[in-house]
Amino acid sequence: MTDAIPTPHLTLSDGHSIPQLGLGVFLVEPDEAERIVSDALEVGYRHIDTARVYKNEEGVGRAIAKSGIPREELFITTKLWNSDQGADTTPAALDASLERLGLDYVDLYLIHWPAPKYGKHVETWQSMVELRETGKARSVGVSNFLEQHLDDIVAASDVSPVVNQIELHPALQQRALRAHQAQWGIHTESWGPLGQGKYDLAELPGFAAIAEAHGKSLQQVAIRWHLQEGLIVFPKTNRRERMVENADVFDFELSAEQMATIASADQGLRVGAHPDNTDF
Ligand code: NDP
Repeated sequence: MTDAIPTPHLTLSDGHSIPQLGLGVFLVEPDEAERIVSDALEVGYRHIDTARVYKNEEGVGRAIAKSGIPREELFITTKLWNSDQGADTTPAALDASLERLGLDYVDLYLIHWPAPKYGKHVETWQSMVELRETGKARSVGVSNFLEQHLDDIVAASDVSPVVNQIELHPALQQRALRAHQAQWGIHTESWGPLGQGKYDLAELPGFAAIAEAHGKSLQQVAIRWHLQEGLIVFPKTNRRERMVENADVFDFELSAEQMATIASADQGLRVGAHPDNTDF
């Protein structure tokens, strides 16, 4: 087991600490999850982002158990799926995730989507806050919430989510939503931080030249940009060599000018679903 990667940690509004860089496991096949997460832990990742709907919590849990890494050195996030939303169903959904993960608690439990189809995000949030009190979820937050959804839950409870995990990458920088949630100290987690590979980062103005100037890959520049923006980021890869590459981002710094160049690359380009237009 190598040392933990030298990621900075951020302090959440409830006082807990989160490693700013981790590994996401969306689209990691259930029978590959144990190998992939074991690789990541060996490479030095200590923060894993999974979800009930990814169907790989068991594999993530097996890798954690095998690793022998003390639980307190890990930061594990999972998410409540839409069909489990509701005051009556949320506690059991967390219990089931913990069972699959083989853990007593998760560090962070998120409402995966606002899911307008169900209309239950407010009562679900109140249930999440109660779950935090049980200690089964150290911190609670949301994902894919728009301004209105955040307003709804903050108005209905005296606890704001510690994070909102949203689609965010150089071509979709979400500055208005980030400014809105900053009023409550809500940290932003970037999903799809590499644009899910659905567009070529080299096509963004100035991006390739920045990578060349630092002798880094396009993906390393993107990850470094997230970190310097104060975002929490967990790029997904199945490949161990890319896990190493994606964590090798602490020996260079983007200049203010380079940050400005990337800021100007925002095109409002979504590669995933819009939270208002989901039927799942
Ligand atoms: P990413 O932006 O992390 O992109 C993943 C893709 O990039 C994969 O195809 C991967 O391929 C490729 N890749 C990774 N590293 C490199 C590299 N160094 N060079 C070239 N290609 C690379 O997309 P994700 O959607 O996975 O987002 C990250 C995480 O965010 C998810 O895994 C999940 O945890 C979370 N997420 C949350 C959502 C939500 O609704 N809350 C929605 C979507 C994601 P390969 O595996 O072959 O290396």
